Amino acid sequence: MSFSITDQLNKLKQGIPDQVKLVAVSKTKPVEDIMEAYKAGQRHFGENKAQEMETKHEQLPADIAWHFIGHLQTNKVKYIAAYVSLIEAVDSLKLLKEINKQAAKNDRIIPCLLQFHIAEEDTKFGLDRDEATALLESDVFKKMKNIQIAGVMGMATFTEDMDQVRREFKHLKAIFDWLKSECFSEEESFREISMGMSGDYPVAIEEGATIVRVGSLIFGERNYPTTT
Ligand SMILES: *Cc1c(COP(=O)(O)O)cnc(C)c1O
Repeated sequence: MSFSITDQLNKLKQGIPDQVKLVAVSKTKPVEDIMEAYKAGQRHFGENKAQEMETKHEQLPADIAWHFIGHLQTNKVKYIAAYVSLIEAVDSLKLLKEINKQAAKNDRIIPCLLQFHIAEEDTKFGLDRDEATALLESDVFKKMKNIQIAGVMGMATFTEDMDQVRREFKHLKAIFDWLKSECFSEEESFREISMGMSGDYPVAIEEGATIVRVGSLIFGERNYPTTT
């Protein structure tokens, strides 16, 4: 039987509890593939390049919730600020400042997740606790009116060692609990833990994920032309 996005999506959804949000990661995939998932009921999609998201946003239904899941360069924020649903990987005050500025220009509040470095081996983007504290306690941050910090995001090491992956997800959950009690105890909207991808989403859900970001399991393997 040939590969079907609809079948893959339906199978996947059976293993994801209702309260966990599934973001279908559609980076590098054509709008036809996204449309198939859309017709199967999927509304949250994830992209990691601003211009690619912008092109797809223009061609696809307006009720899609677009999640920016990659490293976002400050000079690209303007391409997505008008409509992006959640910027998942904020890892600097500089980026947050630009998001705040572009959100104000568009007269909206943009929800963001703080990305934490949780991988034990890999060098991936992300904050540590001290950096997060410094950011959240800065006057610059406190004055921002067009940002809503909605939770945390992290990527585990790319490994088949699920014990290690589980430790890393536990680490992110602990960071979330600490931030919730230290900085956001009054804020209902601080509630998301985005972790888990095709290879490790079941573990992420067991460890408390509220958002999982799944790409290849839905759309098939990605072919990267020259750059990734
Ligand atoms: C590509 C990507 C995903 C999805 O990866 P799959 O292994 O294809 O599920 C999830 N999160 C981020 C940040 C990504 O860049």
